Amino acid sequence: MNHPLYQQASFVSGAHTLSQLPPDEGMEVAFAGRSNSGKSSAINRITGQKALARTSKTPGRTQQINYFALDAQRALVDLPGYGYAKVSGKVKRHWQHTLEAYLLQRQALRGLVLMMDIRHPFTDFDRQMIHWCQHSGMPLHILLTKADKLSRGAAGNALQQVRRVLAQEYGVAREQPWATVQLFSALKGTGVEEAWGQLDRWFAMGPEKERAPD
Ligand code: GDP
Repeated sequence: MNHPLYQQASFVSGAHTLSQLPPDEGMEVAFAGRSNSGKSSAINRITGQKALARTSKTPGRTQQINYFALDAQRALVDLPGYGYAKVSGKVKRHWQHTLEAYLLQRQALRGLVLMMDIRHPFTDFDRQMIHWCQHSGMPLHILLTKADKLSRGAAGNALQQVRRVLAQEYGVAREQPWATVQLFSALKGTGVEEAWGQLDRWFAMGPEKERAPD
């Protein structure tokens, strides 16, 4: 099971500030998740590359924005998660500011994929990202990661519960929702095709798409 477009992802550069990113052109989809949310594993599974994004059990490792080109027009962007305790307040504030500016200003950005551990959804980090998407009109797709850790029934219930919270607390409508959610397991491969489908739809918007004003 592979998707040629995502399989050709290749690392271009790492950035600590927005000015270090490649020019704001073409189209990109960004991935965000709190540390240990399963973000690296999800990116590796979606691209069919075992070690594209580093999977690491070491919180506190140097964090940067990693930029992966797919082709001349399209890219995937791996954003740092700053949620864990070992990171200093100063580093957290730096990334909080940088991610907010990126989400609100980046013209090339077509959508954000947010990884939430299915057993611990809606951390402070997650709510911050959802809030910024809501306020900037940025399409959001949530992967409930590590779905294999729950039984099929429990995973289905968790999915419905997350949908309820999105509807009730963030005003996500059933018709034409700005935020969608799915089950995902990097371990089993569950949900990979659904995730590809969402990325394909965002990239199909084309490079000239204008963002809706607030
Ligand atoms: P990151 O810090 O968000 O990049 O998370 P990682 O991808 O490094 O994963 C964090 C931990 O969760 C690692 O121990 C992974 O092996 C584990 N993990 C990630 N995805 C899955 C999954 O789909 N199923 C299970 N059971 N474990 C996973």
